[in-house]
Amino acid sequence: MSKSELHPTFREKNVYSLDCIFCGSNVCRRGMKAVLLADTRTEMYSTDIPEKDAVDLVEGGILTNHCACKINQLACIACGNEIGYTVSRPCRKCLMSCNNGHFWMYFSSCVNASQRVNRAGEELLLWGDLPSVGEDVSVIFETECFR
Ligand SMILES: [Zn+2]
Ligand SMILES: [Zn+2]
Repeated sequence: MSKSELHPTFREKNVYSLDCIFCGSNVCRRGMKAVLLADTRTEMYSTDIPEKDAVDLVEGGILTNHCACKINQLACIACGNEIGYTVSRPCRKCLMSCNNGHFWMYFSSCVNASQRVNRAGEELLLWGDLPSVGEDVSVIFETECFR
């Protein structure tokens, strides 16, 4: 997804880096704080792409109880704990509603979130400034630094 396709509502949102609360592994560097439409008490983090080789799908899809989406639970590869889910087959209602195009979700109770800053390290990074997945050089840059 390119920058221009992101709905204006989401461009002002902060970008979060997410670590598994159980083992500390980084599971996402492109997280967005989200509230479920179906359950506004549930706080989640959504992403357009999880960290590479950080999460795995739990076998067997399940149906949600509030719409026709089919979801698969997500487990942290490092420790095996379930930390979220992915929408493997979104329903028509959800596709038609104003969504951010994110089909990967993390439970806020299962991750530690920290806000990402821009490359100069001076300002908080916003989704409107975040490059598309293929162009997110800061992810590649940071990853190489940690090796
Ligand atoms: Zn749905
Ligand atoms: Zn973990």
